[in-house]
Amino acid sequence: MEVAGWAAMDESGKVEPFIFERRENGVDDVTIKVQYCGMCHTDLHFMKNDWGITMYPVVPGHEVTGVVTEVGANVSGFEVGDRVGVGCIVEACLDCDLCHRSEENYCDKIVLTYNGILSDGSVTYGGYSETLVVHSKFVARIPDSLPLDAAAPLLCAGITVFSPMKQHGMLQSGGSLGVVGLGGLGHIAVKFGKAFGLRVTVISTSPAKEKEAREGLKADDFIVSTDQKQMQAKTRSLDHIIDTVPAKHSLGPLLDLLKVKGVLALVAAPDQPIELPSFPLIFGRRTVSGSITGSMKETQEMLDLCGEHNITCDIELVSSDGINEALARLARNDVRYRFVIDIGGDSN
Ligand code: NAP
Ligand code: ZN
Repeated sequence: MEVAGWAAMDESGKVEPFIFERRENGVDDVTIKVQYCGMCHTDLHFMKNDWGITMYPVVPGHEVTGVVTEVGANVSGFEVGDRVGVGCIVEACLDCDLCHRSEENYCDKIVLTYNGILSDGSVTYGGYSETLVVHSKFVARIPDSLPLDAAAPLLCAGITVFSPMKQHGMLQSGGSLGVVGLGGLGHIAVKFGKAFGLRVTVISTSPAKEKEAREGLKADDFIVSTDQKQMQAKTRSLDHIIDTVPAKHSLGPLLDLLKVKGVLALVAAPDQPIELPSFPLIFGRRTVSGSITGSMKETQEMLDLCGEHNITCDIELVSSDGINEALARLARNDVRYRFVIDIGGDSN
């Protein structure tokens, strides 16, 4: 089928209208009329070819919500009209140990929602477009209580912080969590931390975010990471850290904030290697761990929890002709806290 979307043609960081082909709905597929798509910093990394792996034209977008318009004959659990979401992954082998254990996000055959190559040889195009066709395994349900616009960033930003938080026991009340970088991923990590009873400290390069972090997001503490005095005063104060900073930085000063045996979960993907000095690691028996998005099982669990606890993202809605301006603002760290493109109009 012919689909209208927005693609980056080069490294300029801009998109333009783009018409392309998607496969027709297959027996295992669900077709989705896209209503909203969040704008993740990963979209910018790909558009600017930060990692040297971009295949232009690239149609970004992996925080998609919309409504089902067609289901294949083999699909159970979805019907036309259902409110659904799609995140970062649209294919995996579904037959390896990891896939069988519901850890398909670590399958070595995963195909990303955009800039990926499916097993049929076609290139994937993401959610900055009007229609998606996706294997039903990679479709999640959006709880009725969540609005489709403010829920969209949960499909990437939400699950990307939820998965390591769950994996490392960061969702247990009473612990202390540091969130580094108060952007799309960071602000949801703060919300999850508060919802699950943690003491949350924001570690930020932006002093101007302190008031809103404390008042709007209910953060308990705020440290300006460039202020050495503030950083030193909090040495060995945190059980866990989630690092979302998309630029080159050193983990040393962050590891010093952790208690002995604390865990730093790195989810950011800067284009330059991060610095990992050994002393803060070995003197504190600390762990640095990585994590890529989450499984579909965890994604559904996270969405259902958000539905129960009324957790949504703080978004700024942009129309399709405002995408380039929003991308420029995202690049200069001027967003509170996620841009979401209103693709389907307001038929939410
Ligand atoms: P974002 O909305 O741009 O937020 C990043 C935050 O990091 C900024 O708000 C800023 O917070 C801080 N920051 C510090 N130095 C910065 C710099 N030089 N440039 C920009 N921001 C800087 O980004 P995001 O969408 O949350 O994504 C964060 C990172 O996670 C990206 O690298 C993205 O590719 C990656 N990611 C990974 C996964 C995964 O599966 N592992 C999934 C999604 C995204 P302060 O102002 O508070 O310092
Ligand atoms: Zn993302």
